[in-house]
Amino acid sequence: MTSSSTSSAHFPRISNHGEPTRCWCGEGITTFGSSTAENMYRRFYRCQIARDRKTENHLFKWIDEALIDKIWMVDAKHERVAQEITKFEERVMEKVKSEIVRVEAEMSEKLEEKVNLEIARVEQEMKQKLKIVTVAMVVVGEIVGIWTSLTV
Ligand SMILES: [Zn+2]
Repeated sequence: MTSSSTSSAHFPRISNHGEPTRCWCGEGITTFGSSTAENMYRRFYRCQIARDRKTENHLFKWIDEALIDKIWMVDAKHERVAQEITKFEERVMEKVKSEIVRVEAEMSEKLEEKVNLEIARVEQEMKQKLKIVTVAMVVVGEIVGIWTSLTV
């Protein structure tokens, strides 16, 4: 192994999802290129301190793996957002349905009330008219009676 060579086997990874921004030691992350035969030029994240302290277990992460991680994280987030939207739509639909039921019940109640009132009004009006007709008929009958008694 050369001085700049490294591999995940020699430096067990510290759990760090997606793109790391800082090592546990507080140092910022820099990108390096691998020089081992099996990972030639493959780029990785590492802090500057780790360069000089080979025995310490500083953060190590392949950049390509970090990007795949990030894609998975975005995918998972997408999925969660889609589920949230579906749940929200379901809640809205439920609310709309219950509101429709409520309004329909209220309307039919009001309509019934109005119909009953209208029936009562028409009945009253009919009775009134019938009374007038009855009075008119009585008056006409009286006039006819008087007229016939005068002409006989
Ligand atoms: Zn470090």
